[in-house]
Amino acid sequence: MLKDRGCGELNKEHVGTSVTLAGWVDRRRDHGGLTFIDLRDREGIVQVVFNPEVTESYQQITSEARNEYVIQVTGEVAVRPPGTENTKLATGEIEVIARSVKILNTSKTPPFYINEDSEVDESLRLKYRYLDLRRARMQKIMILRHQVVKFIRDFLDKKGFIEVETPILIKSTPEGARDYLVPSRIHPGKFYALPQSPQQIKQLLMVAGIEKYFQIAKCFRDEDTRADRQPEHTQLDLEMSFVEEEDILKLIEELFTSMVETVRPGMRLLKPFPRISFAEAMDLYGTDKPDLRFGLEISDLSDIAAETDFSVFRSVIADGGQVKGISAPGCADYSRSQLDDLNRLAQSLGAAGLLTIALDSSVDSLEVLTMDMVKSVAAKFLTLDQVREMSRRLGAGTGDLMLIIAGKPELVNTVLGELRQEMGCRLELADPELLAFTFVVDFPLFACDEKTGRLESMHHPFTAPKAKDIPLLDSAPEKVHGRHYDIVCNGIELASGSIRIHIAEMQRKVFRLLGYTDEEMEELFGHMLEAFEYGAPPHGGIAPGIDRIVMLLAGEKTIREVIAFPKTQNAVDLTFNAPSPVSQQQLTELHLSIVEEQ
Ligand code: ASP
Repeated sequence: MLKDRGCGELNKEHVGTSVTLAGWVDRRRDHGGLTFIDLRDREGIVQVVFNPEVTESYQQITSEARNEYVIQVTGEVAVRPPGTENTKLATGEIEVIARSVKILNTSKTPPFYINEDSEVDESLRLKYRYLDLRRARMQKIMILRHQVVKFIRDFLDKKGFIEVETPILIKSTPEGARDYLVPSRIHPGKFYALPQSPQQIKQLLMVAGIEKYFQIAKCFRDEDTRADRQPEHTQLDLEMSFVEEEDILKLIEELFTSMVETVRPGMRLLKPFPRISFAEAMDLYGTDKPDLRFGLEISDLSDIAAETDFSVFRSVIADGGQVKGISAPGCADYSRSQLDDLNRLAQSLGAAGLLTIALDSSVDSLEVLTMDMVKSVAAKFLTLDQVREMSRRLGAGTGDLMLIIAGKPELVNTVLGELRQEMGCRLELADPELLAFTFVVDFPLFACDEKTGRLESMHHPFTAPKAKDIPLLDSAPEKVHGRHYDIVCNGIELASGSIRIHIAEMQRKVFRLLGYTDEEMEELFGHMLEAFEYGAPPHGGIAPGIDRIVMLLAGEKTIREVIAFPKTQNAVDLTFNAPSPVSQQQLTELHLSIVEEQ
């Protein structure tokens, strides 16, 4: 190689040895007749001293080398003169006295600083991603990602899993998003779909007797550009035969626990991982992705609200609605504009409004509270006992602010779930070093589409119904629970999985409930139904998102930060400028023509 060591690897033990290094000029300083270059490579930075008396081609380096030039240096490792050590640098006790130097390549002035972790416009970073990735912060993330994937491979290998690659050009898979399609040149008018996940293929691998499969799999979903999604993401896809829910949950808990302990030993976990049912999660946290790093649980106040003279409460309850709330500790003195902000947030989520009740902090117990210490537009419709009872339910004390929403049950939960998240963030209640992994279980098998009234899979159509609920499939399918589990961490859904249907007749029944005709079933899923007739074993699996895991471990806020070449939120690759038009010849070969939008 053109180098025999990493710059950042050098230390006092190497003093007196000769080394050849190669890397990028991080910074250059000239003084006292000497030139100093901080030389950077993936391992870190070391100071190299160029001395006209010692260094061959000294002139060339001093007249030419600038930031980001690629150079090769051979020299001796020496202790820095006393008083010139740099405690901020891992190699700060030593320097390399250059004997010879060669410029391997020049560099234009980069569009942003590579040697600083300064704020840079994201589109510029994405256009020059190869320069962005050269920055120390991004290199650290790429290394962490490598460690995570390596950990997964080693862990699952020890547990007897084998990695199987599955095709990228397949047939459409129903995972709830839109497919990316690839037109076939050889079969005019026909298309492959890119897998939204290898769901059906991994199930076929179970029929094939693989028993324990995994893959670091690319998944493609043409989703609307919202939230933190990417057109392609990476999953740890796994599937096992002869298992029940508990086997998968135990495996995943052990995998995540030992992964965090290995790659991020400073971070803490809740052990064992809490388990919460879907219904409980919706009730207490207003979401099936609860952030358990803090409390602020939602409580039902409907019975108290029904007794008040507040007409808003009474009419919502008479309409079959609910009144629920949370307590924001220490927020009783929130200003008008802070309250308006929260009200706007509630309204943007569909609530008619947010009712706040502030409990004056001038007294220190609810027992001595009087009505003139209760600040709320509804105060005149409430008795002191009702306020006290609501406070007790919400765990609010004096000095706290109660946030109350009235409306349809689902809306109330959603809005309070968001308000809870917002207050947790404003009050910095979440410990940044805590990873609150949580299993969510007992999901309904189906959700009902409000507009069409049709049943939809809560997870996907291959999820098995719970055995005890099978008799309800014909009479009350909406009451059937699925053998579906999710793992959530710090409010982010990391994975969904389930025990699958492995009996063809049951699979047909579920497809029928989802509204597929027998012909559609055969056309779309005939291969699965047929496979199940050749001794399909009971099986189940899960598929955690690698990008999200690395994002949490790296303490980043978007998955774009942990993907080498991500797309923008608008699904554009700025480095390659994709998507882009193709030639007429390519279109003709693919039997395609472009219809301009009117
Ligand atoms: N294939 C599913 C998904 O991508 C996960 C699973 O059920 O294993 O969400």
